[in-house]
Amino acid sequence: QRRLIVILGEQLGRQSPLLEDLDPATDLIWMAESACEPAQRPTHQQRLVLCCSAMRHFRDDMLNRGVEVHYHALELTPRPDDERPIAERLRQDLDRLAPACVLMMEGGDWQAEAELQAAVSDADIPLQWREDRHFLCSRSDFASWAKGRKTLMMEHFYRMMRQRYQVLMEDGGPVGGVWNLDRENRESFGKTGPESLPAHPSFPPDEITQAVIAMVETRFSSHPGHAADFNLPVTPQDAQLALDDFIAHRLASFGTWQDAIWVGEPLLYHSRLSTAINWHLLDPMTCIEAAVNAWQQGQAPLNAVEGFVRQILGWREFVHGIYWLKMPEYASLNALEHTADMPNLFWDGQTDMACLADAMQALLKHGYAHHIQRLMVLGLFAQLYGVNPRAFHDWHMAMYLDSVDWVSLPNTVGMSQYGDGGVVGSKPYCASGAYINRMSNACSQCRYQPQKALGDTACPFTTLYWDFLDRHEERLQGNRRMQFQLANLKRKSQEDRSEIRAAAARLRKTLTGA
Ligand code: FAD
Ligand code: SF4
Repeated sequence: QRRLIVILGEQLGRQSPLLEDLDPATDLIWMAESACEPAQRPTHQQRLVLCCSAMRHFRDDMLNRGVEVHYHALELTPRPDDERPIAERLRQDLDRLAPACVLMMEGGDWQAEAELQAAVSDADIPLQWREDRHFLCSRSDFASWAKGRKTLMMEHFYRMMRQRYQVLMEDGGPVGGVWNLDRENRESFGKTGPESLPAHPSFPPDEITQAVIAMVETRFSSHPGHAADFNLPVTPQDAQLALDDFIAHRLASFGTWQDAIWVGEPLLYHSRLSTAINWHLLDPMTCIEAAVNAWQQGQAPLNAVEGFVRQILGWREFVHGIYWLKMPEYASLNALEHTADMPNLFWDGQTDMACLADAMQALLKHGYAHHIQRLMVLGLFAQLYGVNPRAFHDWHMAMYLDSVDWVSLPNTVGMSQYGDGGVVGSKPYCASGAYINRMSNACSQCRYQPQKALGDTACPFTTLYWDFLDRHEERLQGNRRMQFQLANLKRKSQEDRSEIRAAAARLRKTLTGA
């Protein structure tokens, strides 16, 4: 009985439930690299390198185990099939390969999963689904937790997960007596900046990755970023080395500086592990255990370890649960009715706003920006500007190496753009340039002044911030957590408010080039 096992691009775990009863004598693995752009946006070159190289390494591991692999590679010379969605290519192959049954694992994309299911069903071949054990809270577990709750709060979910897995727990309560150490984790670097930062590890390309880089440079040269700058792990072994390096050199300072920004330092004390985790090269529980172990050995303080555990056991699992609970409607939510497309600066980084230029430089160079740059610089500007949340998500899917639909949508449409009207976060993350000034050194290098909303040197964030509150005043009135910001708006004269509206309109016109 020949089974065809479909391995999707981000399902590269070597302990995958799809492989546990694999029989090399009869089973066949099916994989396809794709040049199909998410929402027709040009994909960052390094994202293409990551996908193709990590998949090829997985393929070779399977070949070494004696398994037959039916593999579609992107070659130097394009073929018409390359740009067809994965499901269509599977549909074509099912006819030819005629397996007795198809085996798949829950994926990370609602639409792709539905299309793949339809392809197999149309071919009239039995399909078996396996649950993805990579996640620590399954889709159905999350639905049970959410059932009957009026609001879904990450903090409540996180405490339940800490208890369920007995992480940082003692005598039935949290170690240290408190669940949340966020207060200790909001330092800025002040005026002097970070003391000598530990270098991040680099993973020079092996032969397989070099071949992919050459292919991407030839075929996708007009895409953002540079393929040759790629230096991330593409195998579980290297992903483990990246984790070890983080635990040894950066975890201890991770918490304290978690929210800080410093120009020219895009990585700081962050782990940069999201890509390896999302591609299943690294197991989330392995990361949690390594961090907790470092705390037990006295190598990292509790605020750092709790901060890190919160991100993985809390936020990561929470947004995964929200995605599967709320799809497919979630993808088109737009509570603030924002309609603008992404301004060009989000593609080429050309801007005189120092904070945005710095974040874009990191993104173009690494396909990465850290959380606070994503939320409080790039995401904040898109929200204040009035970008359609879905357009922001599409851009995100194209530009970041760690984006997969399930994690990008709740973070972009929900947390960052408040398109979901308060499912992921209870209020919009809206702030003026003053916030960026407090958390970074960008404003001291900028031609604008963060406290000014009007005039030649007005900070565009600040102008757009007041305009945002003005535009949404009525809508946000009922939100208890917005009262302080709205009370400050009310103190502005009508004259000031109309000048701000006019300045914001001029700014939008300049940025769209209209
Ligand atoms: P660290 O700062 O070292 O954090 C440790 C780990 O915690 C991360 O590797 C990640 O696995 C996890 N984590 C932390 N916050 C979140 C979160 N909100 N959601 C899910 N996991 C989290 N993360 C992605 O993995 N893919 C995305 O496409 C993505 N899109 C985002 C878009 C926006 C607008 C925002 C505000 C956040 C987004 N995040 C996304 C969450 C977070 O910013 C990244 O996980 C993090 O910046 C990755 O860098 P790191 O590995 O150095 O993380
Ligand atoms: Fe960014 Fe405004 Fe500060 Fe310039 S002044 S760096 S635009 S926040």
